[in-house]
Amino acid sequence: MMKITGTLINYYFHCKRQCWLFGNRINLEDNSEDVNIGRILHEIEENKNKKAEIQIENIRIDKITDKYVVEFKKSDADIEATKWQTLYYIQVLKSKGIDRKGKLEFYEKKKQGKKVIYIELDENKEIELENLKNEINELISSELPPNPIEERKCKKCAYYEYCYI
Ligand code: SF4
Repeated sequence: MMKITGTLINYYFHCKRQCWLFGNRINLEDNSEDVNIGRILHEIEENKNKKAEIQIENIRIDKITDKYVVEFKKSDADIEATKWQTLYYIQVLKSKGIDRKGKLEFYEKKKQGKKVIYIELDENKEIELENLKNEINELISSELPPNPIEERKCKKCAYYEYCYI
């Protein structure tokens, strides 16, 4: 079984083909999440009472407070991806003895205000997260990737050339 990462979870919601390509190590991006989680734990120790902005590869945990892992997003286009990726990070932190809930803040460009979603890794979510990880493992171990999704977001995707060229 492959080790699941936050990126794989995010991609699983974004595009299953992207998840497969990434999981099968056709990596076009830096894949140094493990190292960075080590750094996060270190930074949390160092910044216990301060705001800390933390980078996990392309995902920014914008803030860790006493209670929350806080995520800011420019749009709410991918709420599920953000939610499960954050729950995964909460689980990783929890396994190191750091208990946090999640607070997701979505800012919409044209609309005023923001949408705030609170999440918590309760027992049910833990089970769902385990199921999700199994689904992702199943997907990644299939021999061929799913077909390209042919959506607008493909144009911004790092795997574009693997799908259409
Ligand atoms: S280009 Fe489109 S189909 Fe291909 S991996 Fe990216 S999002 Fe998925």
